[in-house]
Amino acid sequence: MQQEYWDHKSETISLHELKELQCKRLQKLVKYAYTTNTFYHKKISEKKIKPESIKTLKDIEKLPFLTKQDLRSYYPFGLVCTPLDDIIEVHASSGTTGKPVVGPYTRNDVDLWGEMMARSLFANGLRKNDILQNAYGYGLFTGAHGFEKGAQKIGAMVITIGSGNTERQVDIMRDFGSTALACTPSYSLHIAEVAEEKGFNPSKDFKLRLGAFGAESWSEEMRKNIEERWGIAAHEHYGLTEIIGPGIVSECEYKKLHINADHFYPELIDPKTGEVLEFGNDGELVFTTLTKEAFPAIRFRTKDLASITEETCECGRTLPIQSRIKGRSDDMMKIKGVIVFPSQIESALMQVPGVSDNYQIVKTKQGDIYSLSVEIEPSDSRYKEGHLDDFEKKAESEIYRILNLHVPVHSIPPKTIPRSTGKAKRVIER
Ligand SMILES: [Zn+2]
Repeated sequence: MQQEYWDHKSETISLHELKELQCKRLQKLVKYAYTTNTFYHKKISEKKIKPESIKTLKDIEKLPFLTKQDLRSYYPFGLVCTPLDDIIEVHASSGTTGKPVVGPYTRNDVDLWGEMMARSLFANGLRKNDILQNAYGYGLFTGAHGFEKGAQKIGAMVITIGSGNTERQVDIMRDFGSTALACTPSYSLHIAEVAEEKGFNPSKDFKLRLGAFGAESWSEEMRKNIEERWGIAAHEHYGLTEIIGPGIVSECEYKKLHINADHFYPELIDPKTGEVLEFGNDGELVFTTLTKEAFPAIRFRTKDLASITEETCECGRTLPIQSRIKGRSDDMMKIKGVIVFPSQIESALMQVPGVSDNYQIVKTKQGDIYSLSVEIEPSDSRYKEGHLDDFEKKAESEIYRILNLHVPVHSIPPKTIPRSTGKAKRVIER
């Protein structure tokens, strides 16, 4: 098959040329931030360096990290490096755990974002003749807007439906002949559930062939379920409001997550010490935006744990490859001395026959000690079969196999757990 790229030159650049480009852009960026923004000027000066100190890519290690706390302290526009007048679009995170993170964009930033999203969606397989149902929530959140910009740049038709009103999603999908769906992975499963309730077979009665999913962590097992249920290829997108939104990392047809590293420079660090790790190790992802104007992020600590490799992919792209997110250091739980990530529990549950995709991890605090249990909905047919204690035991043993930890599992009637139209809440505290 003839390999197709959105931007052949950038996506197949040699590693040597890529590093040269990154270094040139980094030098320019540090000088720019240092001279235009008082926060960056102060932070860089405190390290007793100047922009001229950045001579090689490795010199990035001399620069200070940027944290979510810095962004909150300078809320909303303290980190902007251009006149406010040059900003034409603003987004923000939901701010559920404090002040929201603000993402301002100049016209060039908006163009860059559209370009990065077009590159990402094209690599997924989206083409001009596709019809993309955009079921991410519109509003301050970056998701829906990024997918819209990229798909329109490719020339695809975008259905700007947003999230929610799930019965209508199903009707529109059928009437308009949507071929691609963009939303959170958990919401795609809820749409499938509602389609089934309406008497449809999701894999047969729709024209859907492609899914562009992100904004929450999901396991490979969950991917398989989504692909089978809808009869589509499901692709992962990784992004952050602090960097640009979606468009930083996305999958090629071989489901390798390529980093758009000509614009977003990736590093891996030890989350405890901040020490830079060689690619190939597991560590916390750190990103530097090499070309953004309004708010350039220099060494932003994502708290997301992953690994990175530099190898040419079967697809021919040379852009470095990131693993799926192995967990967020924020989501990490320590239960009886064992480190537990919610994604590990999801992987275990998806091995159990008759399990649905709806589950909840319940954290209970007694004194200073946390314990865990899991509530899970069997599928309708498995629920009707009865003998649910066998079902629970099987789930417990799968979790034990992965975590070496006994976590009690309770099955609850189908359709008990509240469905989400955006990010699913998998961990609750009681
Ligand atoms: Zn690839």
